[in-house]
Amino acid sequence: MRLKQEMLLGIGGWRLLTALGIQPDVCHLNEGHAAFAVLERARSFMEANALPFEVALAATRAGNLFTTHTAVAAGFDRFTPALIEQYIGHYATDRLGISLHDLLALGRENPNDPSESFNMAYLAIRGSGSVNGVSRLHGQVSRQLFSPLFPHWPVDEVPVGHVTNGVHHPTWDSAAADELWTRACGKDRWLGMRENLEQQGIRSVPDENLWQLRTASTECLVDYARERLARHYAAAGASAETVEEAKHLFDPKILTLGFARRFATYKRPNLLLHDPERLLRLLANPQRPVQLMIAGKAHPADKEGQALIKEWIQFIRRPEVRPHAIFLSDYDMQLTERLAQGVDIWLNTPRRPWEACGTSGMKVLVNGGLNLSELDGWWAEAYVPDLGWAIGDGQEHGNDAAWDAAEAQALYERLEREIIPEFYIRNEKGIPVAWVKRMRESMARLTPHFAADRTVREYTEQHYLPAAIECQ
Ligand SMILES: *Cc1c(COP(=O)(O)O)cnc(C)c1O
Repeated sequence: MRLKQEMLLGIGGWRLLTALGIQPDVCHLNEGHAAFAVLERARSFMEANALPFEVALAATRAGNLFTTHTAVAAGFDRFTPALIEQYIGHYATDRLGISLHDLLALGRENPNDPSESFNMAYLAIRGSGSVNGVSRLHGQVSRQLFSPLFPHWPVDEVPVGHVTNGVHHPTWDSAAADELWTRACGKDRWLGMRENLEQQGIRSVPDENLWQLRTASTECLVDYARERLARHYAAAGASAETVEEAKHLFDPKILTLGFARRFATYKRPNLLLHDPERLLRLLANPQRPVQLMIAGKAHPADKEGQALIKEWIQFIRRPEVRPHAIFLSDYDMQLTERLAQGVDIWLNTPRRPWEACGTSGMKVLVNGGLNLSELDGWWAEAYVPDLGWAIGDGQEHGNDAAWDAAEAQALYERLEREIIPEFYIRNEKGIPVAWVKRMRESMARLTPHFAADRTVREYTEQHYLPAAIECQ
């Protein structure tokens, strides 16, 4: 089914464009799933110019760009030679005029190993003029992953670059954040590369206004969580008392930590739960309490991921935990939007270097939320001490349980000693001055850079335009 879907996407996709009268100069393969497009593009070129397949592929290759999105080899789609033969073998022999062996060679490390499966990322690389990962660190990891295809090259020179992802801020900002940015930087702020203008604009916003944005946003999120939980209880047939209780959950004045992700083991969604009693003490500290909002989903086939969700739900069910934490089900973009707008801190704890980029943390930037994250993906290049917090030592430790434990301890320490106090130390006007300073740095320096317009511009300048010129 997967192979048929990818044939439809790649071969069918290219044919669809042709049928619509669209003749693109540049074809951007977003992940290897679409890689068959390079074959169909070459096929239509060989047909139009009466050329053999190899020549047509060489001629069209420069117009293809491949972006890889995974940091683990297991993330690449692979198909057995038998499946390739069954579904696409005739296409190779009848339409491309090449043997099955030559087709398989395009997706193999060793073309003469009959047992090697067909790797879609390898096909994408062989059929593309340039290749990139989605963060600086992921570029480095990808050069390593793809080094088998470049056997005599130093790893640093494997031709894989990077374009770091960015998010579309107008999608993720709250109405209040939009208003603040508009007053500070104008209506067209995200159009065009004007990082200096945006930095200066945000730097001129007084502490009071930034803090007001923060408090209003958390209030909004708390209202939403209460309403959602009450609805959930009512639908589940809970007592009127329980439903009423849900309407008073949380307190908008409390430091709010958000945490939403796909529950995949490499993301370590349970690092914070490593020592449940310590976490409970941290949440329930009467002087400096913390409230936790968690959302997530696991793949239906990922039993381990589902078990991690169960652990959180069991923790939150404990009566002494319940006032301080909530698990929001049905994680989707709408829920992400609510969380990204309302949390004070966005937590991300993947195992380095397996988070290729990670974009959810970028969604809080525009709203004045701060990141507390492993030095992985985008955060490895974004982090500077005065605009957020990092965990980890910037090294890789695989899935070493002892290292996980050490990082969990470090995470608790950081929260207890630095982050929570910074939030609760207030001036005479009730403003946490150091916190607001950090917010301002994060908004001024990170928001304009980790933005979709910067990403699209880099693709255009570094890849699309050169590729278009190259293949004319
Ligand atoms: C942003 C987003 C993601 C991607 O988040 P990562 O941090 O890159 O894993 C996944 N799911 C939803 C619903 C999102 O909004």
